[in-house]
Amino acid sequence: MNAPNGPSTNALIQARKQAATPRGVGVLADFYAQRAENAELWDVEGHRFIDFAGGIAVLNTGHRHPKVIAAVREQLERFTHTCYQVVPYESYVALAERINRLTPGTHAKKTAFFSTGAEAVENAVKIARAATGRPGVIAFAGGFHGRTHIGMALTGKVLPYKTSFGPFPADIYHAPFPCHCVGTEGALKGLQQLFKADIDPQRVAAIIVEPVQGEGGFYIAPRPFMQALRELCDRQGILLIADEIQTGFGRTGRWFAMEHYEVEPDLITIAKSLAGGFPLSAVTGRAEIMDAPAPGGLGGTYAGSPVAIAAAHAVIDVILEERLVERAAVLGERLAHSLRLVAALGADRRIEVRALGSMVAAEFLKGDDEPDPDLAKQVQQAALRRGLLLLTCGTGANVIRFLYPLTIPDALFEEGLGVFEESLREALRTA
Ligand code: PMP
Repeated sequence: MNAPNGPSTNALIQARKQAATPRGVGVLADFYAQRAENAELWDVEGHRFIDFAGGIAVLNTGHRHPKVIAAVREQLERFTHTCYQVVPYESYVALAERINRLTPGTHAKKTAFFSTGAEAVENAVKIARAATGRPGVIAFAGGFHGRTHIGMALTGKVLPYKTSFGPFPADIYHAPFPCHCVGTEGALKGLQQLFKADIDPQRVAAIIVEPVQGEGGFYIAPRPFMQALRELCDRQGILLIADEIQTGFGRTGRWFAMEHYEVEPDLITIAKSLAGGFPLSAVTGRAEIMDAPAPGGLGGTYAGSPVAIAAAHAVIDVILEERLVERAAVLGERLAHSLRLVAALGADRRIEVRALGSMVAAEFLKGDDEPDPDLAKQVQQAALRRGLLLLTCGTGANVIRFLYPLTIPDALFEEGLGVFEESLREALRTA
């Protein structure tokens, strides 16, 4: 829409935004999207950006994949909303069947759909409590699970997610995640400490874990840690919830990151790349656990929107047809290799590279492994000036994460890597 006095420019819209919307909705860019295609985006002034952010891990199949758009168009011609709980549609059932097959484990599973990641997390906790009759939930420091009350309480980072938003729901606890100087043993000791100091394990309904912490800094849970969690849960009758909202749908070089561990979670939360840009989330789990809540206990007016469901079917087709799970591994290796070549930055600074498939992080450190958020920010800003969209993450805000569409053409991927290196060099010159 044009401003009252002529065509919209970024600056004009920015001024209106400051006046009309609250600062709590933090925004990275000061330019406004006009259109986007696969891994590229153009702003209202015609500037072009290579998109290595993917709308925060939503666009594994790229912006406006033709098959996704065609499926959505077809659905728009039939119906856009009935509320699944009033008049159901087969596409919901068929998507549940497909996801039950794609998720780890061959046991009988069921899936319920919602709209956002936080809503999936909320419902996973509700289901776990209903199935076990226990109240407690354990999450991990540095983890992120959403901005609703349970999501926020589970999130293991105070600023900015919890600041000024208390009181928080009861019976939620945090244990250390195995990263930084905490190893698997230290993290497991932290859990035992929790059982001594705060909650009897027999009162714990679930442990929720991201196999790779997303917002927390792309820390990959070690295999022995995940296996120990599974054993602990089995011993104590606790359910293991894998939050695969950021790691799922091909990103890590497997359909789901838990496949790297050969550990089967009892419940999985899925969102983001599930529907290629349309709001859809899911909880998938053991059939008997999923059936614990009584009829009417789960759902929502928009939960499982037929338009988003149509998109998700097309997303699964595209991932299979274009072999995007395999491509995630190839692209991730290529990126990690090029990052490792520039990892020694000199003058007491270095990059730590972490990669699981295309979940790749460059953590900026200085001195004795101290976080260097300033350098990460400078690289991000320099890249933005050159037309490359990058996201940061990490409890120290010193990690750049790469979340490009897995459909990105090779030449564009290489162009993006080149821009990243130039931006890094510029940031180092001015730092
Ligand atoms: N869990 C994880 C692991 C996430 O990465 C996110 C989103 N960054 C969420 C939950 C919340 O998802 P949403 O923003 O769709 O509510």
